[in-house]
Amino acid sequence: MPEQQLAAMMDPSMDRGDLARAIMAAAGDPRTGLHGYATWPVDERTWMLQLFPTNVGVFETDEGVVLVDTGCPGDATTLLHAVRELTSAPLHTVVYTHGHLDHAFGLRKLLEDGERPRIIAHENTPARFERYMRTAGYNARINSVQFQQDVERIWWPRTREDFDWPTETYRDRLELEIGGESFVLHHGKGETDDATWVVVPGRSVLACGDFWFGVAPNCGNPQKVQRYPVEWAAVAEEMAAVGAEHLFPGHNAYQRGADDIRRLFLDQAAYLGAIIEQTFEALNACLPHDEIVAAVSVPESLRDNVFLQPVYDRPEFIARNLIRRYGGWWSGYASELLPATMREQAEFVAGLAGGPAALAGRAAQLAADGELVLACHAAEWALLAGPDDAEARRVAADVFEQRARGEPSLMARSIFRALARSAGA
Ligand SMILES: [Zn+2]
Repeated sequence: MPEQQLAAMMDPSMDRGDLARAIMAAAGDPRTGLHGYATWPVDERTWMLQLFPTNVGVFETDEGVVLVDTGCPGDATTLLHAVRELTSAPLHTVVYTHGHLDHAFGLRKLLEDGERPRIIAHENTPARFERYMRTAGYNARINSVQFQQDVERIWWPRTREDFDWPTETYRDRLELEIGGESFVLHHGKGETDDATWVVVPGRSVLACGDFWFGVAPNCGNPQKVQRYPVEWAAVAEEMAAVGAEHLFPGHNAYQRGADDIRRLFLDQAAYLGAIIEQTFEALNACLPHDEIVAAVSVPESLRDNVFLQPVYDRPEFIARNLIRRYGGWWSGYASELLPATMREQAEFVAGLAGGPAALAGRAAQLAADGELVLACHAAEWALLAGPDDAEARRVAADVFEQRARGEPSLMARSIFRALARSAGA
C-alpha cells in the first residue's frame, strides 16, 4: 500500500507505531521481496526513491550511476528493480550517509546482479559495523522493542558477510568528480558519529541522510549509543547555508524550494540550540539530572512547527544525551551514588504501603486521578515487590499501556508498550 504509506509518512499526526510495524514487516527481513516505493523526479537524470521507510538519491552521470544510501536489507530487491527502471547505466559509486540498518544494507541484490560500485562511507562506519556484530543480541532486542516486532522477526547482521563494507572511507570532506558531476561529501556528527551529507552543486541537491526527516531530531534515543546534539545544530546551520533547491531527506517526503529548505534547517538548529542552552545552563548550576530534564522546554515559536513534533524522539531524551556526553552518569542524589537495587527500594516502599497489592491499588487510584507519571512509579514498585501478585501485574500492565497511549514519541510509546506486555504476560 505505497499510497497509504506515503500519505502516512507525510502526516505528522499519524500513529508512527503502526507505520513502523508496517514498514518493518515489509522491509526488515532480507528474505522479503519487492515492495512498494515512490519515485520523485527532479530532472531527467536525478531522482529520489522513497522505499519506505528510507529514501535513496539516484544520480545518473556520463560515467555511471551514483546512489546516496541503499535502504534496509529488505529493500534490496526493490532497489534493484527501481534503479533498473530509471536507468540502464552501470552503478559507479554508492555513498552511505551512515551505517544504520535502514541506510547501508539494501545493496545486496544489485551486487548479486553483477554491479561493482565503489562504496564510500565515513571512516567511523566500519567501526560501527564491528560494534554491530559485538552487540548483536542487544541491538536485535532494542530494535524489536522500538519497532514492536517479535525479536525472532528482527534481522540483525551477525557475521562479516552480512555487511556490504565500504571500499573507501574519508575523514572530514571528500569531493568526487564523476562523469563531469561534482559530489561533495561532508562529515558531521548528529544521530550517529559516522554521518555524511552530500551536496551535488550542479543539480542543486542536498542529500542530508538522517540530519533531517521532518520530525524532532533523533538525538536522544533512550536505548542507543551516544548522539551529538551540539554538532548536529552546527551541521543544520551549514546545511541552511547551502542554498539547495532540492532536499533528499533520509526519510519522509522530498522537499523543494531554497527558502523553505533554508528555513527548515534554521528551525531545527534553533530547536536543538534551545535544548542545548537550557541543559548546559542547568548542568553548570549543578542541578540534579532529573530536574534538568524536567525543566527542558521547546520555545513557544517552535512548538507547533510541523517538522519538529516529538513523534519519534523527545526533547527530554535529547537533554539526557547531553548530560551523558558532558556530565557523568551520577544523578546528583546521595542515594543514587551507590544505590539499593530498584527491587530493594520497591520492597521497602511496598512494605510502607501495606504490600504489593495495596501499592498497586494506590497506583490505580493515581492513574484514575490523571497522575499517570506518579502512577507509573507506584505500579512499577508494586510489580517489582510482587512479581507474582496478580493485581500488581494487572495494574502495572494497565498503567504502562495508558502511558503508551498518551505518548506522541514512538520510542517512548514502544518501550511502555513492551513493558505493559511483559507485565501482563
Ligand atoms: Zn534512518
